[in-house]
Amino acid sequence: MNPSSNETRLCFDDSVVSVPRDRRLRRIVVELSSRCNLDCPMCFLKSSPETRGDMEWELAENLFAQAEGFPHLEWVHFSGVGEPLVHPKSTEAISLACRKGWKVRLTTNGTLLADGALARALARSGAAVVDFSLEAEAVNFPGRESAAGSIFDAMRTLKGACVDEGRPVPEIRAAIVLTASNLEKVLELPKFLGAAGVRGVTLSNLVPTSEAMRPLVLYPVSLEEEARLQQALFLAFQKEGLNVSLPRFALSSERHCAFARSETAVVRWDGRISPCLRLAHGYDEWVLGRRKRVCAHSFGSLASEGLDAIWDDPAYAGFRWRLRRALYASCLDCNLLPVCEYPKTTESDCWGDSPACSDCLWDRNLIRCP
Ligand code: SF4
Ligand code: SF4
Ligand code: SF4
Repeated sequence: MNPSSNETRLCFDDSVVSVPRDRRLRRIVVELSSRCNLDCPMCFLKSSPETRGDMEWELAENLFAQAEGFPHLEWVHFSGVGEPLVHPKSTEAISLACRKGWKVRLTTNGTLLADGALARALARSGAAVVDFSLEAEAVNFPGRESAAGSIFDAMRTLKGACVDEGRPVPEIRAAIVLTASNLEKVLELPKFLGAAGVRGVTLSNLVPTSEAMRPLVLYPVSLEEEARLQQALFLAFQKEGLNVSLPRFALSSERHCAFARSETAVVRWDGRISPCLRLAHGYDEWVLGRRKRVCAHSFGSLASEGLDAIWDDPAYAGFRWRLRRALYASCLDCNLLPVCEYPKTTESDCWGDSPACSDCLWDRNLIRCP
C-alpha cells in the first residue's frame, strides 16, 4: 500500500482490491471535553485510567479549518465521552462550526443549562439539534437518583432562551438508555417529553461497564419478544407524536456499522481520530456476559498530522472499506468463542484485522447513538 498514491490496495487471499482516495467524510463527532460534571454509574470512563481533558481552542480552530477541505461534510456533532458544555469555550466552538455552514448537533446531559447565561449563549450559537441524555426516572442504579425532572426544566430553559434571544428553537431530542429497571418508566415518559417540547427520541440498549450491570440488559431476546418490545415502545412514543429511533433486542446476523455507513470520524479532545465512539477510549465492557477490554484506537492525531493525511492513511481507508461491507470476523455466532483468546480485547481478531470489530454490539444495532 502506497500512502502517496491515489489508491489503497487491500489483499484478500488471491484478490487485490483497489480503494480509490475519497473525500466522503460526512460527519465529525467532536469531543470538546472528556470531563463531566456528573459521575454516572454506566459511564464508559468510570473504570478508565485515562487522563481527562479539554480540547485546546487552537486544535478546534485547526480542525474546522481543515474540515473545509471535505466537500461532503454535512454535520458536526459535539458529543463523545464527557459533557461538551463543561468546555469553557463550548458555545464559541458550536458557533464557529455553524458559521462554517455545517449543521450542528449537540448531545448534552443538560444539567449545566440551568445557568441562564449558558442557555442564552447556546440559543445564539445556531445549533440545529440538541439531544438531552436522560436516564428516565429512577433508573435504579445504586447511588444515582433520577434527574429527569431537572432535564425537562433544562429543555424549557433552552426554549425560553431562544425566544428571549429571538433565535429559532433547535430540534430538541432525548437520548435514553433502556434497562431492565427503567423500561416500565420509559413507557410512561412520552407525555412528559412531548410537554417539554421534545420532537424525537433515540433509544439504545445498555453496554454494561461493570459486572453489577450485567443483569440490567434487555438483550438478547427472541425475535417474537423483540417485536413485542419494539411495538410497545413505538406505540408509546408515536401516540405523543414523537419520532422514535429503536434499537434491536434480538441478535441478528446482519451487521451494520452506523459510523462507517454515515462516513463519520470521531475527534477526541486531544486530537486523536477514532473511527467510532466505542473505540475512542479504553475501558471494560461486558459483551453478552463476557468481560472485554476495549482498547482505544486512533488512526492518527491532529497534534502531529493533517486531517486529510489521517483520512487517507491506508490503514484507515482500508478499515472504512471493510466496514462498509461488513467484511470482518464475527465472534458472536462463532463456535470457537468459548475458547478463543481474541475476543478478550479489541486489539485484533482471527482475520488479522486491527482494531477488531468482530465482537461489537453497536454494529448489531443493539447499541445506538443519537
Ligand atoms: S453524563 Fe455521560 S459523560 Fe457524564 S458521567 Fe454520565 S455517562 Fe459519563
Ligand atoms: S476471533 Fe475467535 S471467536 Fe472471533 S470469529 Fe475468530 S475464531 Fe471466532
Ligand atoms: S463496528 Fe463497532 S467497533 Fe467497529 S467501527 Fe463500528 S462501532 Fe466501532
